[in-house]
Amino acid sequence: MDFNYSPEDEAFRQELRSWLEANQPGDEPGDEWQRRLGWHRKMHAAGWVGVSWPREYGGRGASLMQQVIYNREMARAKTPQLVNMLGIGLAGPTLIHWGTPEQKQRFVAKILSAEEIWCQGYSEPNAGSDVASLQTRAVEDGDYFVVNGQKVWTTDAHRADWCILLCRTDPAAPKHKGISYLLVDMHSPGVTVRPLVQITGDSGFNEMFFEDVKVPKHNLVGEKNQGWQVAITTLMFERASIGGGLSMIEQVRELVALAKAVRRDRATAWEDSSVRQKLAQFACEAEALKYTDYRQLTRRLKGMPPGPEGSVLKLNSSELNLRMNSFAMELLGPYGQLTEKASFAIDNGKWPYRMLASRALTIAGGTSEIQRNIVGERVLGLPKG
Ligand SMILES: Cc1cc2nc3c(=O)[nH]c(=O)nc-3n(C[C@H](O)[C@H](O)[C@H](O)COP(=O)(O)OP(=O)(O)OC[C@H]3O[C@@H](n4cnc5c(N)ncnc54)[C@H](O)[C@@H]3O)c2cc1C
Repeated sequence: MDFNYSPEDEAFRQELRSWLEANQPGDEPGDEWQRRLGWHRKMHAAGWVGVSWPREYGGRGASLMQQVIYNREMARAKTPQLVNMLGIGLAGPTLIHWGTPEQKQRFVAKILSAEEIWCQGYSEPNAGSDVASLQTRAVEDGDYFVVNGQKVWTTDAHRADWCILLCRTDPAAPKHKGISYLLVDMHSPGVTVRPLVQITGDSGFNEMFFEDVKVPKHNLVGEKNQGWQVAITTLMFERASIGGGLSMIEQVRELVALAKAVRRDRATAWEDSSVRQKLAQFACEAEALKYTDYRQLTRRLKGMPPGPEGSVLKLNSSELNLRMNSFAMELLGPYGQLTEKASFAIDNGKWPYRMLASRALTIAGGTSEIQRNIVGERVLGLPKG
């Protein structure tokens, strides 16, 4: 593996870094969503949203290596998060691959600009890990599909204008064969969204109910009953994200700073050798993740499809994140109970927040158990459980 950037990649990196340095957002007024939206618009106007998208759809046609550089530079600059990530990461690329010319014309540009926000309606109360068991029904009626059913854990549904919705269109067919992929207007009559409050107090995801919702047939993506193939394309885009290992190293640094700041008896926690050993262990794991990430990147640069490294990374980075945030709580002791805005909160209460939030990452996008199954079957060659 060559760790140097090519001249073009280096030019890309410098262009982005200079732009980010010149355009860092300040303390703009408004709530967090408004601030993120403002930042998104600014980045979009400068052509820095959806860099991996083809140029004809408003992207930069960035190479794989440039996408990695992009992720790193964004993490380095600690910019606010962009909005519409489900649209930009999932719905848009899926439509570019599978959509009709009319669908591309209608939807794609407004995804990138975040004029229309998207959500992903896959999971149901009895269909999460095994999403192909979904029961939401879509029945043909003239020029429409009529949708009835319930989805759950739908991120951003409360802000969304559109949803990529998986529905059962042939209940008699084997479960993967009777599914269709619809684009549903979230403002249609019969759509109800109920926010769910998470353990952190945020409400980022929702329950969605569909009662006789009419969806025009021209909003079907791919063939009727062949929606599983389209859904898999979306999941491939979801799993193909690269660069996760690096933020772990940054987190170890933050944890070291915390250990040096908090005191136990007459010394800092850092002066306790068992604390340093624990931090060294985290640092080793974070480095191992970085190289697993590089291994995945090498594979992709050679034109091979994403391999099981994706599952190894997802499993280990989410579990390491959880263990590191739990260790921060041990370091904080009683201060671990103080959250944002409390007068004596350390680091403005970010650690208890992160500790509570880190559970979600071991579930979202495929649970740790599911990732272990994949590693067991595809890497270790164990029989299916
Ligand atoms: C923060 C967050 C955001 C999300 N956003 C979205 C979204 O926008 N859209 C969307 O559609 N979904 C979303 N989800 C849902 C997510 O995809 C599901 O939670 C996930 O796939 C697990 O499904 P489940 O919750 O139904 O759990 P289940 O599948 O019911 O699993 C319950 C438990 O059983 C275990 N288990 C299940 N099957 C097996 C097996 N075969 N072998 C071993 N153990 C097993 C699981 O690991 C888990 O511990 C989100 C979830 C989270 C946490």
